[in-house]
Amino acid sequence: MEITVQHTDKSRISEINFDKLEFGRVFSDHMLEMVYRDGKWSDPVIKPYGPISFEPSLHALHYGQSVFEGMKAYYSDENTINLFRLEDHHRRLNNSARRLSMPEISEEAFIRGLEELMKTDYKWVPKKYGHALYLRPFMFASEQYIAAKAAAEYRYYVITSPVAAYYSEGFNPVKLTTTENYVRAVRGGTGEAKAAGNYGGSFLPARNAQTKGYTQVLWLDAIEQKYVEEVGTMNIFFLIGDKLITPHLGGTVLPGITRRSVIAIAKEWGVEVEERRISIDEVFDAHKSGVLKEVFGAGTAAVISPVGLIHHKGDTITLNQNEIGPFAKKMFDRVTGIQYGKLEDKFGWTHPVAVGSEVLQ
Ligand SMILES: *Cc1c(COP(=O)(O)O)cnc(C)c1O
Repeated sequence: MEITVQHTDKSRISEINFDKLEFGRVFSDHMLEMVYRDGKWSDPVIKPYGPISFEPSLHALHYGQSVFEGMKAYYSDENTINLFRLEDHHRRLNNSARRLSMPEISEEAFIRGLEELMKTDYKWVPKKYGHALYLRPFMFASEQYIAAKAAAEYRYYVITSPVAAYYSEGFNPVKLTTTENYVRAVRGGTGEAKAAGNYGGSFLPARNAQTKGYTQVLWLDAIEQKYVEEVGTMNIFFLIGDKLITPHLGGTVLPGITRRSVIAIAKEWGVEVEERRISIDEVFDAHKSGVLKEVFGAGTAAVISPVGLIHHKGDTITLNQNEIGPFAKKMFDRVTGIQYGKLEDKFGWTHPVAVGSEVLQ
């Protein structure tokens, strides 16, 4: 496999205010592209970030064969860019692709592609602690053909976007509400894939929740509307007594890589972890009897996101006086410490890419 790099002749980096980054709004100079045609993928090409053009018959727009990943690259003090749990992201991308009847990509293309892209755009990785370069690998059906069957042509891209620390002004606990009107995923559906359409379907319920003053929807299972599944773009954890409880995956919950990391670290600390069904009633009862200590979300964007309030059918519980709990804070410090290379990576999760030390920001 050979990776071709076509450098831009005009970097946009001097136009970017790295002290004022809005999530997902600005993109670095280059992107990676691969084309799947006649049953095989081309070698990756890194080229200047910019428009791609298709006819209106672009298959993905009509039938939603579109999957993605979300990960971050962190600048370490050692002049490396640390990528986190790359093999897991690769595996999950392929699982998502398989569910949507799309081709898989090789681990070599995924990993070497990202390494090369980091070497090309390393100056775009914010150096400030807490900031990062958000990486968005994605794949979609690129055939210009509107028959309702799996396409024969696909594109894989990686675009990257510098992002600020999620909690630049301190931890801000989220307010969650359940909803009786909508569900996110059913067993056998696409809920465990990182499929674009899952998000399309979640925006209306999310907006309804936001107009009522909540940050996000706390999804319950689709069949009984009884068991907790996850939050918008995060998995969820409950610290009840001394046990850490998180919904089991079961085909409807997105298998988060932050979730897996939290479970591994908690176990290493000797905390008992239960992956099982947990009903919303159990959560409210635990609160009533005073054993619900903390609730927090886990996902790449925020890493750990404390939950300050949960609303369900007219009842509301509040947690930790709207502050991050000690367990969530300790977990946040440990995960981010490993990601930035400040703490020992005894799990072997980080993948350092050696880059130059020139500072442009
Ligand atoms: C991506 C995602 C998560 C979190 O996964 P991470 O790998 O931890 O970022 C959780 N839920 C949904 C629906 C997601 O799309």
